[in-house]
Amino acid sequence: MKLGVIGLGHVGLVTAVCFAEKGFEVIGMDKDKKRIQNLMNKKLPFYEPGLSELLEKNFNRLKFTDSIKEIIENVDVVFLCVGTPPLPDGSADLSQVEDASREIAKNLNKYLLIVEKSTVPVKTAEWIKKVMSLYVKKDIPFEVASNPEFLREGSAIKDFLEPDRIVVGIESDKAKNIFEEIYKDFKAPIIFTDIETAEIIKHASNAFLATKISFINMIADLCERTGADVIKVAEAMGFDKRIGREFLNAGIGYGGSCFPKDVKAFYRIGEELGLDFSLLKCVDKINEERVNKFIEKIKKILWIIRDKVFAVWGLSFKPGTDDVREAPSLKIVRKIIEEGGICRVYDPYAMENFKREFGESERIYYAEDIYDACRNAHAILILTEWNEFKKADFSKIKEMMETAIIVDGRNCLNMEKICKLEFIYIPTGRKGCGY
Ligand code: NAD
Repeated sequence: MKLGVIGLGHVGLVTAVCFAEKGFEVIGMDKDKKRIQNLMNKKLPFYEPGLSELLEKNFNRLKFTDSIKEIIENVDVVFLCVGTPPLPDGSADLSQVEDASREIAKNLNKYLLIVEKSTVPVKTAEWIKKVMSLYVKKDIPFEVASNPEFLREGSAIKDFLEPDRIVVGIESDKAKNIFEEIYKDFKAPIIFTDIETAEIIKHASNAFLATKISFINMIADLCERTGADVIKVAEAMGFDKRIGREFLNAGIGYGGSCFPKDVKAFYRIGEELGLDFSLLKCVDKINEERVNKFIEKIKKILWIIRDKVFAVWGLSFKPGTDDVREAPSLKIVRKIIEEGGICRVYDPYAMENFKREFGESERIYYAEDIYDACRNAHAILILTEWNEFKKADFSKIKEMMETAIIVDGRNCLNMEKICKLEFIYIPTGRKGCGY
């Protein structure tokens, strides 16, 4: 069986490389010609740990093309991994899905199973079928299935190859057999459902995880008002097997290309279907407010932001990736600059993406390393919990700073150690020191 992948972003490229690792011949297609050229030269479009090595290892089973005709003529199954970004009203922009479906249909000349792997609202498969039927030549059979992807950037390969579960929405035994063949070497349980259920499982999972994050952030605010410690609260809650410890880390909120858009898209589809999904509106609202709360903390210590220098540690929306889509860093740096502050930013991987996304500003300096970022700074702002930040030489850093203040938006430093060095340390949802 030959597999095809359309859309070689984070999900598509990992899917293609990992299926090749499982022994399949895979053709990856993207309409971005430059991306294809780079991939042909083994150059990746983004940073993902281990992906470069796996691409190298399986290169003989992988082909990259920008031709829809080439991929459709040569594969038995095609995974749709195009983007589904948000529209201004929060609903999912499905134009990339429509575009790809139309192009597949026009080039179809034998049976094909089209699999939605992108995160899409329920009933999208229905639309794919309708669009395909408009353009496909008469009597050529095709089927649509849903196989949502749960990988996380930063651990994408492990997540893909060793998933907790595989969800497959199908409409025929033929499609079921194809998926059993594709996933025969995976150890995870496969949950076969109808297509609508599979589509909902993905949105419901992401919305639930985002809810956990906003919930603990709400508790963090309560802890700050009362002198309690959110880390202890989360730990104790997490011991309860019904709750679990994961996704209970208080901080400056979730970002990335999934949670913010998926929560919004999920409550929009709820509304469209006449349902009150206001729970998720609150999840979103709590998350949006994290940035202002973080800025307020800075002001409580420094009073005025104008002409203060901030060492911004971490720009990616989480460690292990260079992705800055919807990263809190973008909003925090923008607010500081709007108020006349200066940001000396540093991230081990995401500097280029941040530069591209943020644009030029004479109030941003792109630092060489964490130490360079701290020169004459009034405060360090920790926005991503990269490991190297935890290992920094804080005695040296203190000497370099104008005022020794750390606002830890990710609770990632060892508080005891930092407080011993007489920093003013402001964590999230717990008492710090020096203020
Ligand atoms: P992305 O925007 O990084 O990549 C999409 C790719 O599709 C781009 O390279 C684009 O050029 C290509 N493309 C768009 N239209 C095309 C077309 N008609 N033909 C060929 N190529 C086309 O997106 P991503 O982060 O990989 O996410 C893809 C989907 O997977 C989204 O629905 C997302 O919500 C979902 N998802 C993402 C993650 C994640 O961690 N990034 C995890 C799980 C699910």
